[in-house]
Amino acid sequence: MPRIYIPDISAKENRISITGDNARYLVSVLRCKKGDELTVFDGKGNCLKTNILKADRREVIVDVLEKFTCHTESPVNITLMQGLLKGQKMDMVIQKTTELGVKEIMPVITERSQAKETRKVSRWRKIAEEASRQSGRTFIPIIHEPVEFNQFLGNVGKLKGSGETVKRGHGEMIGIIFWEEGGLSLKEAVHKFSSLPIHRVSDSPIHLLIGPEGGFTKKEVTFAEGKGFIVTSLGKRILRAETAAISAIALVQFLLGDLG
Ligand code: SAH
Repeated sequence: MPRIYIPDISAKENRISITGDNARYLVSVLRCKKGDELTVFDGKGNCLKTNILKADRREVIVDVLEKFTCHTESPVNITLMQGLLKGQKMDMVIQKTTELGVKEIMPVITERSQAKETRKVSRWRKIAEEASRQSGRTFIPIIHEPVEFNQFLGNVGKLKGSGETVKRGHGEMIGIIFWEEGGLSLKEAVHKFSSLPIHRVSDSPIHLLIGPEGGFTKKEVTFAEGKGFIVTSLGKRILRAETAAISAIALVQFLLGDLG
């Protein structure tokens, strides 16, 4: 059944008018027509099963048949910290990791990042929204403005108990830095933090740190390790940054989330 994300649906109405880009998307892309059923979801767990009364490119009118809650979110709260990549690679990482259930993406400027700034954040947010919609997610990942590697890690440990949505305090946050030159296997890394008292993964955001094209410097790896990040390998072969990000998230979802 076709699905559409509308953030501000009112649970009270029995008939809904959908206009603008959403109407065009329903008619031109999803080929919706009168009499079809359509699921409307708001990204907060509310879903409506509806029947299409009228469909043209300017307006789609639906009758609500049924209201229900829909949960497609993984129990693990993964933040991808991705070294800033060049060209379209970041687009791909955002799209694919959204499909795999990432909750936040934080682009990181590192020593070897070829790009040191970006004007693409609003475009990335659109990609995340589109990928959420397409994959039937009920949450759109938060795409942050880029952060500096040293500055971000310098603050880790200071923010304990600050009440931020993502607690970055030492011991509350779980961090893994992926390094092609060695480290624990992902299984060992997960075992290490799942035996800590903070193992209630649903409460502890897991930060996965992946380097840019040129990788992390030894100094960066040591710094992250000193901040409690577990140095972890994805095997003997060197993966492209995009492959590493997508694989890391799929594997964490397999080991701790809902891909098992
Ligand atoms: N510096 C390397 C490649 C870096 S790959 C070179 O050119 O030889 C880009 C990023 O992907 C790395 O920083 C790392 O975070 C991740 N990565 C790639 N292969 C990996 C592996 N086998 N194990 C762990 N991380 C890996």
